[in-house]
Amino acid sequence: MAAATQAGSGPTTLTFLGATGAVTGSKYLLTVGERRILVDAGLFQGERELRRRNWADFAVPPDTLTDILLTHAHLDHCGYLPALVKAGFQGPIWCTAATVRLAEIVLRDAAYLQERDALDAAEGGWSRHRPPMPLYDTRDVERTLPLLTAVDYDRDLDLGDGCYARYTRAGHILGSASVRVETPSSTVLFSGDLGRHDHPVLRPREVPPGAAYVLIETTYGDREHPEPRNLPHEGLADVIRRTVQRGGSVLVPAFAVDRTEVVLKVLADMRRHDRIPRVPIVVNSPMALAALAVYRDLPDELRGDLDLKDLLGDVREIRTAEESRTYTLSRHESSIIISSSGMATGGRVLHHLERMLPDPRNAVVLTGYQAAGTRGRALVEGATRLKMHGQYVGVKAEILQDSEFSVHADASDLIDWLRDLHPAPATVFCVHGEPDPATALAARIERELGLAAVVPALDEVVVLGAGAGGGAATRPAATDTPRSAAPPPTSPTTESSGPVGVASISCGGIPIGGVHVETDLRPRQQDDRTIVLEGTITIRLDPA
Ligand SMILES: [Zn+2]
Repeated sequence: MAAATQAGSGPTTLTFLGATGAVTGSKYLLTVGERRILVDAGLFQGERELRRRNWADFAVPPDTLTDILLTHAHLDHCGYLPALVKAGFQGPIWCTAATVRLAEIVLRDAAYLQERDALDAAEGGWSRHRPPMPLYDTRDVERTLPLLTAVDYDRDLDLGDGCYARYTRAGHILGSASVRVETPSSTVLFSGDLGRHDHPVLRPREVPPGAAYVLIETTYGDREHPEPRNLPHEGLADVIRRTVQRGGSVLVPAFAVDRTEVVLKVLADMRRHDRIPRVPIVVNSPMALAALAVYRDLPDELRGDLDLKDLLGDVREIRTAEESRTYTLSRHESSIIISSSGMATGGRVLHHLERMLPDPRNAVVLTGYQAAGTRGRALVEGATRLKMHGQYVGVKAEILQDSEFSVHADASDLIDWLRDLHPAPATVFCVHGEPDPATALAARIERELGLAAVVPALDEVVVLGAGAGGGAATRPAATDTPRSAAPPPTSPTTESSGPVGVASISCGGIPIGGVHVETDLRPRQQDDRTIVLEGTITIRLDPA
């Protein structure tokens, strides 16, 4: 056992274990001396190739992780925690108080879904595992929950060995945070998932203190959310009016946590302004109802102008499985049904889809990001058949994607968040996005902010320097840009200074070979289109 004074010494390395070139499986490992800090422990979702990684051995023995820092309670950020605990992790899992509450709900549901899917697969005979197994079960979750430890926003959390963490409001879902980690040799800021400037239900995001290195999510790195041309969510209102007119119902698959609250807020606003007919609104998701209770308990985290009573009004809440079965199978009047999961990867929404998709009178309105490989993505892309519970169901219902619901920042929101950081980072890592948006945002960051931006590869390791994070004006020297110890980044870091080595130059048109060129240049952004390099270039004639 190393002495405490040595435990946090040495270089800090960062390993990208998930959400690189993809939006799920967020996991970043920071190592300094003997400390191993994992930031987020998300589940891979979507494509089978990715989901297979959930079953692989973790990069390091989980019992050697010292701390886990959690940005928020979405499954793609916390859903791998019980697998780590099952494999021996016993340390603290630090997150905000609201995240503790929501993670309990999300993880219990995740275990339940996995156990049930394994059971269904065993009965239906379509599993690839023999016998079908859940990744973890309820007992693993119950052993995980006591490790969740609440931290305050905007206070330095002392992790020991000279390592500190600080949580700043991210305005994405209740309890969501950006996390800045300081080690004795470096500073890193993890954006977590970022909300837009304005959240319909929550207090807005705040500006965290800057760091030498920043990981920024890029879910919508190549897109701007549409500003409603007339009334907000007019497409949704239109579908509801049409569907009710033809005697159908509207199904809204929604992430149980946060999205359900936002959908209810939008529907309440529409009703108040008589934009949609007053048909029953049904929430069929025990998880969404449990999350709703947490929102009710934490009014300080909500917008000041929000009236929860107005939101919930006469909403019908379906809780038990029996109630859900009866309701799903019954013939009912035109209704708006909100159910999870949001990407139709599992949950009660599948039963509604099975019943509703084959009937052209119905409509399905997708309200969030639909990851590649999910049923939600297939619907958005015009699938005519969808596989559920091992069988194909024809798609006849009207399908709409309402992208105004996003609680992810769009490209301009992301650039604004970066621009506000002080000091500005030496290097920005573009994570949590599919390859196109991640690459597009990296290019935009270099172009508009004059910062080095990299799209890291999965399992890539970088060594982090001490860089003061002086930003474009006082960018740290080349030793502070990361050295890649694994596959090279898909977009190279632009080194601003350092020895160029032996080169051939031309002086007054006369070529001179064999000189040593050394540069010490610092870029300074003059305006959006111009970057000025300041410093010295030393040319030494090679004595040989
Ligand atoms: Zn999220």
